[in-house]
Amino acid sequence: MHQPLVALKELFLSHRKFLITAHKSPDGDAVGSVSGLYFLLKNLGRSVEVVLPDPPAKNLEPFLQATDCRYFSEQPELVAERFQSADCFIGLDFNAVSRVGEMQTLVENFSGTKVLIDHHTHPEDFADILISEVQCSSTCQLLYECFESMELLLALQANAARALYLGIMTDTGSFRFPSVNANTHRIVASLIGYGTEPWKIHQAVFDHNRVDQLKLRGFAVSEKLILLNQHPSALPVGYIALTQEELQRFNYQSGDTEGLVNTILSIEGIKAGVLIQEKSNGIKMSFRSKDEVYVNNFAKNHFNGGGHHYAAGGYSEHTMDVTITKLLSLIHELF
Ligand code: 5GP
Ligand code: MN
Repeated sequence: MHQPLVALKELFLSHRKFLITAHKSPDGDAVGSVSGLYFLLKNLGRSVEVVLPDPPAKNLEPFLQATDCRYFSEQPELVAERFQSADCFIGLDFNAVSRVGEMQTLVENFSGTKVLIDHHTHPEDFADILISEVQCSSTCQLLYECFESMELLLALQANAARALYLGIMTDTGSFRFPSVNANTHRIVASLIGYGTEPWKIHQAVFDHNRVDQLKLRGFAVSEKLILLNQHPSALPVGYIALTQEELQRFNYQSGDTEGLVNTILSIEGIKAGVLIQEKSNGIKMSFRSKDEVYVNNFAKNHFNGGGHHYAAGGYSEHTMDVTITKLLSLIHELF
């Protein structure tokens, strides 16, 4: 067993007060890993609390229900108290402390043991125990692998299995990204063996669209999609830019545009997709790519972000028009 896992096992078998969190705007892998680890540690008889910077999209909320999760955006004092009373902090599914948003100071000032378990590239060196597997499909798959290596799978029950399935399913685009291999399917088969019903999780995550949400996606594709391969540059890139007014027109709620950027990438011949959204707190960028095109360094170098080779995010401090001009002037760097 690798040294960090020896230390992690020792920690999990000790009677600490654990505090678990993940990145802001939590996606399925963040929610799944937080909830999965909560149950794994509970099933080992540990004391565990869960906090997140802000709530996930509506369809993911039920997966946190049994964890008594509190959000910094809603109850900052209570979240701060949880940091005060914990003696072991575990960060999941993020590579930079800034990814916890407004909670950053609480994480930085935390005096107990810090653990980071993640699968993004270039993890920051802020934790006492770092488990980083960049090749791993998801933090949820990584958690399973860790518990297996530590010989702690006795902690795996239906509640944790269901949560881990959620993260693997969402971070692999329902088992279709290049990160999926035989080990992913072996682990998923094992999770099903613990009572996970895949169809129920697919239904809970994907069949909860509001009509406004579907209309916004239709509008984005039919009215706002720009394909650069039809322009003089002839680059195999598509982008969609949505202003605040446009989002509001469709009663935008958090999570409504989840996966929209992948739609761009599904167009024949397109190798990179960008979604630019004007949110109340600034301009959010999402990048996706495939084959020999990587987006994480582009997001990092030009849009204050990062992520994975094929999926990255960031933000722009400029106006929408300036952001688009900047994007178009730099996009050739991807090729
Ligand atoms: P999304 O486009 O879904 O927001 O993010 C895609 C990927 O990029 C996710 O894996 C996410 O963790 C990462 N990511 C998104 N926004 C940021 C950011 O601002 N900074 C960094 N370092 N990574 C990001
Ligand atoms: Mn993830």
